[in-house]
Amino acid sequence: MEITSIHRPKIVVIGSCNTDMVVKANRLPVPGETILGGTFYMNPGGKGANQAIAASRLGAEVTFISKIGYDLFGLQALEIYKSEKINTDFIFTDQKSPSGVALISVDSFGENSIIVAPGASRSLSLEDIDKAKEKIKEADIVLMQLEVPLETVEYAASIANEYGKKVILNPAPASTLSDSFLSNVHTILPNRIEAEMLSGIKVMDTESAHRAAEAIGEKGIENVVITLGKDGAYVKEKDEFTMIPAKEVETIDTTGAGDVFCGAFSVHLSEGHSLAEAVRFANAAAALAVTRIGAQSAIPYKREVIV
Ligand code: ADP
Repeated sequence: MEITSIHRPKIVVIGSCNTDMVVKANRLPVPGETILGGTFYMNPGGKGANQAIAASRLGAEVTFISKIGYDLFGLQALEIYKSEKINTDFIFTDQKSPSGVALISVDSFGENSIIVAPGASRSLSLEDIDKAKEKIKEADIVLMQLEVPLETVEYAASIANEYGKKVILNPAPASTLSDSFLSNVHTILPNRIEAEMLSGIKVMDTESAHRAAEAIGEKGIENVVITLGKDGAYVKEKDEFTMIPAKEVETIDTTGAGDVFCGAFSVHLSEGHSLAEAVRFANAAAALAVTRIGAQSAIPYKREVIV
């Protein structure tokens, strides 16, 4: 019998809601250059939303704390979250800002570059977190990223910590973070760029990933998982270090791979699996996502993930 049929974990995701506007092209433009792209499509996105949907599809009971603008993009996103069985009671509306958007370019290798205009996500406040305190209290895990104000994320982490909840942080987009904030984090999940920002060490291979994980750990976090794209993830769990390879798949579009990884990792960990098992599950879920186009549309369901 699957563990999930016994315990459906409760995960609170705090983060952004955006609409992704994606253009596929043969290559990414260099600064100052205009190139002709191919297909254009519009998809709901935002790291917070993507991770909330990933956690829900992968088996958790999810409450998403976020902020939308008073516009069609926001309303459309809300409908999608409801259809994904996500609790939307704590998605607040900012009457003065537009909903967030992300402009995404994807090249023929599936590599991407992204600009986010956060809009209403920028006004997710400490008061909003206070309104959702009871949900944080009921949660097994609180999962956050950095597309909403840092002070809000820091505040939510301190509250979650007071309640004895595990805080999982995906420090994206890359930022420098205070040690006092990081001491409230159970596991941090940076990609290569974010790991370099946090550690000052350029992550190119296993050896540099090891040094970066050690340096990040010295900031007061026990567990560090550096995601390494097609190479998998480098894991520091307390004093143990392991490289966990990715699944070999045909890469179509890597947009949102990290979000699937974070959602999957959080679900599996909150089901009571070990950190290494959670990373293996996350690698398997994210590998499925890169074989499909889009962010939310590429997120797999639990039944599809084979570790
Ligand atoms: P981000 O999307 O945040 O930049 P990564 O590129 O490190 O993060 O990817 C996150 C995870 O997605 C990886 O750790 C891996 O599990 C999976 N992944 C990404 N790219 C590939 C790929 N080409 N093949 C298989 N798995 C991949």
